[in-house]
Amino acid sequence: MSVFLGLPGASPVPSVPSVPDRLSVLYRGPLASCNYDCPYCPFAKRVDPPPLLREDRAALGRFVDWVVETTDVRLSILFTPWGEGLIRSWYREAIVRLSHQDHVDRVSIQTNLAARVDWMADAAPTAALWATYHPGQVTLERFLARCRRLDEIGRRYSVGVVGLPGHHEAALELRAALEPSVYLWVNAAEGHTYSPEEEARWTALDPRFGDSVRPHVSFGQPCHAGESAVSVIGDGTVRRCHFIDTPLGNLYDGSWRQALRPRPCTNRICDCHIGYVHLKPLGLYDVYGPGVLERILA
Ligand code: SF4
Ligand code: SF4
Repeated sequence: MSVFLGLPGASPVPSVPSVPDRLSVLYRGPLASCNYDCPYCPFAKRVDPPPLLREDRAALGRFVDWVVETTDVRLSILFTPWGEGLIRSWYREAIVRLSHQDHVDRVSIQTNLAARVDWMADAAPTAALWATYHPGQVTLERFLARCRRLDEIGRRYSVGVVGLPGHHEAALELRAALEPSVYLWVNAAEGHTYSPEEEARWTALDPRFGDSVRPHVSFGQPCHAGESAVSVIGDGTVRRCHFIDTPLGNLYDGSWRQALRPRPCTNRICDCHIGYVHLKPLGLYDVYGPGVLERILA
């Protein structure tokens, strides 16, 4: 925020813009391939050609180096790849490395949990996973085996499902099999309208389902995105969030530092958890506390 200092009558001198003490960064590189084939996803079974994978790896490496070197702000990182990142070694290595940085409070990734999770034992407890169970792509037993391994090695994770009618039975089984302390979240399915009975059914599984079931009218509302949370893509372009295209600057030339300030949302609605969780009037930072990025309730 720009403030003016000086004696009465003297010309105002703009202060040097300051970065916040803490910054959440959502990173998404070019990778868009996935090993699963979910019928509700545009990235299902997509294959990235080798040059794109090399580009993704190089971009992630550059981002990780930036995080390691940017020690004047406490950082929390969430990787939000279009496709599946953890089947690629460079995402696993990035999480392990970043988890051991003193100025990194949290590092997490959205994942389908298809890959083995033993490598998480090499990460510090600041690493956590945002896992989604996709019935039809993996058996419950196999998915639960990954969860149990994370329990054994003591690493935190949330588990979620897309709230399609055909997923309800599987979600009940999942809930019954997970450790009671593991938060099971439910995302409202895109394009699906929920009757009050359906909403109640899903809310019985996830008490926060109401946050997801209706889009939030966000225009003009204050949002942490662009002030203490940003989104970054592979070339370093910084935006306030994944849902507003206007760039704020670039991570690698330092221009992001001048751009951070409180500002209202310019979109009509915000309907994705990784966006509306930052919408100030919802108060969701208090609901999730330090688990806000990996979607683990406080
Ligand atoms: S696991 Fe995720 S990225 Fe992969 S196809 Fe399913 S929804 Fe899409
Ligand atoms: S409310 Fe959503 S769309 Fe608006 S600035 Fe915040 S994250 Fe972005």
